[in-house]
Amino acid sequence: MNKIVNIDEGVCVGCGVCVELCPRKILYIDGKSGKCKVTDESKCDRLRGCEKACPVSAIKII
Ligand code: SF4
Ligand code: SF4
Repeated sequence: MNKIVNIDEGVCVGCGVCVELCPRKILYIDGKSGKCKVTDESKCDRLRGCEKACPVSAIKII
């Protein structure tokens, strides 16, 4: 499987920083888990804004 937006939910603290900055609006905080998830990763610009901003390095763009 060729995933683009890889989120380690064990590391994510649900701060929402990536959700706010994502220009493509494809990230959100899941109400149940309180962790970040991605909707349509094919829309990702791959510029790593989320990866650079995440305070706990929970997102990796591949
Ligand atoms: S790399 Fe950019 S477009 Fe892709 S999920 Fe992160 S912030 Fe959003
Ligand atoms: S910035 Fe990092 S810790 Fe915060 S919601 Fe996004 S993935 Fe989770």
